[in-house]
Amino acid sequence: MHNVEHSHGGKEIATKEWLAQFNMRLPIDSSEIPDFKHWVNFNGFSPQQTGHNGYDFAAYLTQKGEVVLGLPVETNIRAVADGIVYGIYGRDGWGYANELWIKHEKKYGGLTSGYCHIVPTIEEGKEVRKGDIIATPWKDSGSEDKGPLVHLHFMMQTDWQTTPIDPRFIDKSIYAYNMIPPENPRLTIPELPTRTPFRVEHFKKVDVGTENDKFFQSKKRIR
Ligand SMILES: [Zn+2]
Repeated sequence: MHNVEHSHGGKEIATKEWLAQFNMRLPIDSSEIPDFKHWVNFNGFSPQQTGHNGYDFAAYLTQKGEVVLGLPVETNIRAVADGIVYGIYGRDGWGYANELWIKHEKKYGGLTSGYCHIVPTIEEGKEVRKGDIIATPWKDSGSEDKGPLVHLHFMMQTDWQTTPIDPRFIDKSIYAYNMIPPENPRLTIPELPTRTPFRVEHFKKVDVGTENDKFFQSKKRIR
């Protein structure tokens, strides 16, 4: 299965061409996560079916064959390509609160990348290179409906924020293992043997009213 084109809102872009042009990486260096073996697709890109316009880096398979749900809070979140941090926002109306956006260089054709439920470690206006650390994960008071799960909601958009892009075009291996259904704690993973051991870790209480939360509430989305 390979989609040559992705369609959204009447707009279509040739993803093969799009992919070939760019030198990008995933926003998390998985070698920094202890015992990591592979990403598990917890809540993938499906803007038409579910309205979820990004990929949640939220679950992974360990070397021991367990699935861990949740990211270590100290995980570094990195710029996926060269660009400029052009916005740090609070709530955006879709529940993807605590956002940082990077506008990539002109050769990326209007591409932006967004990193949500994070604590930024860089300021607006700063230039970044691919791989630079820009944030760590945080569970904010956004309403993405995953409870206090520490995860990164990652999105990319092109045509100056009108067309969402599936992060599989950076690395399609993020879809090799799929959790079904993502809402249910008794998950199954069709690609793994049945009764895969399962651990839920790295949760943090939603802590409304913290300094971090106040910082983001003071930020107004301007786009
Ligand atoms: Zn998400």
